[in-house]
Amino acid sequence: MPYQTDNIFARILRQEIPAQIVFENDHALAFMDIMPQAPGHTLVIPKYPAETLLDLPAECAGEFLQAVQTVAAAVKQAMNAEGIVLMQLNGPAAGQTVPHLHFHVIPGSIATLRQPHAHTPADPEQIRQIAESIRAAMASSR
Ligand code: AMP
Repeated sequence: MPYQTDNIFARILRQEIPAQIVFENDHALAFMDIMPQAPGHTLVIPKYPAETLLDLPAECAGEFLQAVQTVAAAVKQAMNAEGIVLMQLNGPAAGQTVPHLHFHVIPGSIATLRQPHAHTPADPEQIRQIAESIRAAMASSR
């Protein structure tokens, strides 16, 4: 199936709907997950319209992974996390619900994640405050 341009992350990329954005460069955007599996749960998406990792051209993969690394480091610092779980689902059969490639960056331990997804939005004010901490961590590491 061709890439669906009306998916929610494509709409966040086009700034049609709001998000707590913590990182942006020419290749990627990162924003807070509205139904976090742990406080600090952040999503990193490529600007390239790929539905899954398998659809991302190899020449885009390096820049995208660098963005994931930058965001993971900032989330780890901001949340004072001992560990960071990266989760990335490809296709509905794997549990992917939004058809635009994304990495979940989740502070903590795989053992403490709510499974398979959280279903309730977190307090927007709490998400906003955590996003501020992550932006600050990003700025302090530049
Ligand atoms: P996946 O199941 O891997 O496709 O994950 C999709 C993620 O997107 C879930 O963790 C949702 O909580 C998250 N999500 C859905 N809509 C939004 C939104 N508008 N802003 C931020 N995160 C979202």
